[in-house]
Amino acid sequence: METRSSESGQPTVGMAGKRNPYETAVAQLRTAADILDLDGGMFEVLSKPKRELSVNFPVRMSDGSVRVFTGYRVQHNIARGPAKGGIRYHPEVSLDEVRALSMWMTWKCATVNIPYGGGKGGVICDPKQMNQHELEGLTRRFTTEISIIIGPQEDIPAPDVNTNAQTMAWLMDTYSMHKGHSIPAVVTGKPLSIGGSAGRNEATARGLQYVIREASKARDITLQDARVVVQGFGNAGAIAARFLTEDGSRVVAVSDSQGGLYNKSGLDLNAVTRHKQEHGTMAGYANAEAVTNAELLELDCDILVPAALENQITSTNADRIKAKIIGEAANGPTTPEADRILFDKGVFLLPDILANAGGVTVSYFEWVQDIQSFFWEESDINGKLQKIMSRSFNDVYRIATERRVDMRTAAYVLAVGRVAEATRVRGFYP
Ligand code: NAD
Repeated sequence: METRSSESGQPTVGMAGKRNPYETAVAQLRTAADILDLDGGMFEVLSKPKRELSVNFPVRMSDGSVRVFTGYRVQHNIARGPAKGGIRYHPEVSLDEVRALSMWMTWKCATVNIPYGGGKGGVICDPKQMNQHELEGLTRRFTTEISIIIGPQEDIPAPDVNTNAQTMAWLMDTYSMHKGHSIPAVVTGKPLSIGGSAGRNEATARGLQYVIREASKARDITLQDARVVVQGFGNAGAIAARFLTEDGSRVVAVSDSQGGLYNKSGLDLNAVTRHKQEHGTMAGYANAEAVTNAELLELDCDILVPAALENQITSTNADRIKAKIIGEAANGPTTPEADRILFDKGVFLLPDILANAGGVTVSYFEWVQDIQSFFWEESDINGKLQKIMSRSFNDVYRIATERRVDMRTAAYVLAVGRVAEATRVRGFYP
């Protein structure tokens, strides 16, 4: 389903009731721009991506037929460094979604103060209906199409929904074949054997764990025995669920795209993972009740981790959310209307551009290691990550407290302020 931009300035909602994520991103920027008193010209510059590439490209499928796929690579802002952001494979990818995701990457890199701008990519496809050979062909041809704008000093992709370390290996190999030598720093989230970083696969979840620890201290909520609900059981969600149990919390519900499981005494995550691996779905797992994704969000719990897609917490369900802390592992899971309702209810929401920034932070470490050809131990990586996540949480929390705003607005004030300053000091060429 495609969502369309509104010219009236009102949120456009697609046929299935989905809010346009790019309009959400611009509305969030507007709030920060007003607080920072940015002039209209700067708001215009920051509200539009700098560069957008759309490509239609053929892939030969295993049955011999040829299919044409559509993909995008968008670079939102590069004032603070090369564009950085993942590549998503999903049937509902749209240009507006990729625009929003690229803008969120700009703010995320600025929130944690790493020297990158924001970018994102996506291909409209259903990877669940494709075999490995077809996915390799799609990845290699898409890489070739976007190779005119990516590169280790230009724009560095990484994994996102339905892409993983293998996808990044194909991307790195294709780009390197074109250049005639290996260029590991063109992509992050690669396998360790070709210049990946220790700790990258777990980094998003590790970063989330660090900010949830800080949040629990700030709000005086004990993590021991805290009840956790996680929506989405992929790279971000499944690993976050496991890490949160390290601090004594109990994961009472998890879900994937087909639905969820709930057990108020706590789920056995290893058994759930085994069941999903064996059956391809969580459905049918014995020691839990089945819940829908909508019900899961409203369960009685202390910590809610949305780790799937955008627009999950909206004005229609926000007032029924019972969690004390929401840690946004996903990008854009909460609409601006829902943000206001949650803030008024006293829910402590850790926004995506802070909460899931562990992934891009360790991607930055991977890129630095690739450029230096000198690799660090996992304990060094996690130590450096913890420092950055704790410092960033406290920077954002200080602004939230001083200005009496929610944590998302505070993170935007910090991030947009940094990007606007970099843009201003560089000046507008010519
Ligand atoms: P993934 O493909 O590994 O996992 C996605 C999970 O979400 C799967 O379990 C899938 O079944 C589930 N899902 C899909 N649609 C759903 C729905 N409607 N309801 C419930 N579950 C659904 O992807 P990922 O890398 O874990 O990314 C998840 C989110 O985290 C995305 O928003 C992504 O942008 C964000 N994120 C990921 C990283 C990273 O390093 N992987 C970093 C930052 C942010």
